Amino acid sequence: MNNNDYRDFLDACKTAISQRKDEVLTPHNFELIASGVFRNKEYVKQVASNIRNKFINGIVDNLVSFNKNFSSNGGEVFWCVDYNDFLLKLDKILQKDKVKKVNIFSSYFTNELGINKFFENDDYTVDSQTDDCVIFHPKFGIVSTGSLVLNFNSAYDMELVLNSKTKIFVLPITDFLFKAEESEIFSHLDSIYRSEVDFPYLTSIYTPSPIDSNEKTYLFLVDNGRSDVLENKDIRQALTCINCGACKKVCPVYNIIGDEPYDNVFTGPIANVILPFIENTESYKHLCFSCVSCGNCSAVCPMKIPVAESIVLNKKYFFENKLMDMKDERISKSLSKYLLSRKKMNGKQWMKNIRVKTIINSKIIDGYKFEKSTFNLQYTDNNDGK
Ligand code: SF4
Repeated sequence: MNNNDYRDFLDACKTAISQRKDEVLTPHNFELIASGVFRNKEYVKQVASNIRNKFINGIVDNLVSFNKNFSSNGGEVFWCVDYNDFLLKLDKILQKDKVKKVNIFSSYFTNELGINKFFENDDYTVDSQTDDCVIFHPKFGIVSTGSLVLNFNSAYDMELVLNSKTKIFVLPITDFLFKAEESEIFSHLDSIYRSEVDFPYLTSIYTPSPIDSNEKTYLFLVDNGRSDVLENKDIRQALTCINCGACKKVCPVYNIIGDEPYDNVFTGPIANVILPFIENTESYKHLCFSCVSCGNCSAVCPMKIPVAESIVLNKKYFFENKLMDMKDERISKSLSKYLLSRKKMNGKQWMKNIRVKTIINSKIIDGYKFEKSTFNLQYTDNNDGK
């Protein structure tokens, strides 16, 4: 582990905690609203999760089908390995089409790709009123029809995007559905779990038209590390995430430390799972160790992603592959040896408290004490010593 990154992260967390120590986890109404919108919300979540998992598990064939359908509709697809590759291809297209003015609709994905930064030069003008050329991040692509699901904040935005002469769409390779009808469930889930409202966003299904030769539609499909998550079967399901942010809102750690210590566009519990693979393991594996395994994230996730369990699997992966900080590895080994000893666990309460405190050597566990008796001792006592 890169010790500097790890220690910097801990320092940033400590600063955040000291500045926001009175912060309390605000209650959220996701489940209440979902129960009002759906007759059986768990069933709906399961249906949505199945759709996303089906896409991810057959991602290569599904993307090829989408590409074929989108191209036969008159759109042009560009496959990009990462944001550098994307920016290079984007620049070529803009120069070929002599585009000088662009209208960027910012989202987490346009930030991930560094689009705003790219346009901070004299070659282009960014204009939020122009419909000459728009850059937009659709919510999903639709495999069977080669269309895109577009969510808008206002009717004005919708008009600008749909009427623009050059449409540049950017989409991660993971964000697809199979049929247009499926988008309705996702629109509802997104609005409930993202914004806690019971009406969906203003949505349009956009299909490029081969007849309209004045209009140009480009779609940049960007991997940017996602296929590295795909290769890890244990956490692959994390790619079904719809980025609603609900897991962040219920995470007691994130509610204290916030976005800053992450120093990335991805933050919160799901970032703890995917960032070490999307970015690089060395700089991001420490994130998992900030998790207190409360399980709130898994319980709330509308895609039924076992977020907390995936964080544990990441820890196991880093431990087994000897990727942990040497000191943390030593602590984990001593702790597991001690906690797995029945004889020691059935020993004196004060001795266990002191021993674990010495192993961990941290003020964090000051508030935690062992119970007087273990389950094992209580069971034996209740069963006449058997
Ligand atoms: S992991 Fe689940 S709860 Fe968290 S952002 Fe993704 S879909 Fe939402």
